[in-house]
Amino acid sequence: MRRSEAKLFTRREAGGQGGETVALVRRAGLVRQFGSGLYGFTLTGERVRGGIIDRIDEAMREIGAQKIRLPQLNYRGLWEESGRWDSFGEEMFTLKNRDGQEMCLAPSHEEGVVHLFSGLVRSYEDLPILCYQIGRKHRDDHARRGLLRTKEFTMQDAYSLHATRESLTEHYARVREAYCGLFERLGVAFAVVGADNSVMGGPASEEFVAPVETGTTPLTCCPADDCRFGAIPDSPEDAEPGEDCPDCGATLVGGEGIEIAHIFELGDRYADPMGLAVDMADGSRQEVLMGSYGIGVERLLHTIVAQHGDGDGCRWPGNGADSVAPYTVSIVPLEYDDELAAVADVLHEECNTAETLLFDDPDRTIGERFAESDLLGIPYKLIIGNNFRETGELELETRDGETQYITRGEVSELFE
Ligand SMILES: [Zn+2]
Repeated sequence: MRRSEAKLFTRREAGGQGGETVALVRRAGLVRQFGSGLYGFTLTGERVRGGIIDRIDEAMREIGAQKIRLPQLNYRGLWEESGRWDSFGEEMFTLKNRDGQEMCLAPSHEEGVVHLFSGLVRSYEDLPILCYQIGRKHRDDHARRGLLRTKEFTMQDAYSLHATRESLTEHYARVREAYCGLFERLGVAFAVVGADNSVMGGPASEEFVAPVETGTTPLTCCPADDCRFGAIPDSPEDAEPGEDCPDCGATLVGGEGIEIAHIFELGDRYADPMGLAVDMADGSRQEVLMGSYGIGVERLLHTIVAQHGDGDGCRWPGNGADSVAPYTVSIVPLEYDDELAAVADVLHEECNTAETLLFDDPDRTIGERFAESDLLGIPYKLIIGNNFRETGELELETRDGETQYITRGEVSELFE
């Protein structure tokens, strides 16, 4: 992509509220606020949000989950069946249609998934089912901290349906492991904490909470690399900073965290009141057991910036297919004219042009180009500078400032 066509809207300063991370996301030109608790994503921002969604899709496909699509608008009746029309309270957006019927913007889709499969799933042989969707959710939350608490957000919500407790436990573990793998791939540090499940109901739930300087919940967690132990105020088990980690013995540390995902063993919490049951092999009827699993996409984006961003801008960990950077590499000529422009154009063609940002505007200094590339967190800069004029070799610099020299022939191998 040529910079002249990419339409970046980076800024030196970003006003507004929401803290350092939000300021960085705004300076990089990824989002626009539409009033309290509402954000839109720009051309650049949507590349990052879309990249996170793609990685989630891949992780879910790998464990055999299949996609569904449930309506965001629901009639009151569906929520009366589960008893949550009243219990969700003021967080649920409600409205009336033109015929005066009460509706809501579904803040969650357990009711929807039960309805989708009611009457379709009849026997234990129709189960298990592991399905998911990635879409917009609406909750009338108190807007806080930029992308962390908003009234509309992107969520991956997955659901599993089972005839037996063993099958539910096995799928719960499978999704838990997939979430761990996904967050590791994205370079996110996190703890898995036991959690309260009052709104969703059911026997068990865990949250994935990422330690950050400024988050949404107090978090006590284990600093050891491979240990995922943590506790939040809602956790059934108590843990205080300074105590020994019950899993590995390291000293626990205190701080704040962001809830990036939540998984629930719901059991028959929804199937029982809504009448979703299957015939078992022995002729008996059995309520379908369910699990539900969710990831907050914008929260994940915010977390990556909060954990990895620095004074120069965003950083997106990982290389190539792992990184969710808006572009993989920027091509930065010392100046964009004559010979260097011709070389830059050829290199741009040789790389994957969709993933490459070519600084092709003639009026900017090389310093401005470097700063903008770093602000966006692009992992590599391919510099066509003095060294190229003297030796014919290009300078390849990482976002962390490590430099190596490569020949023109090596470029397409690295970035095709
Ligand atoms: Zn530990």
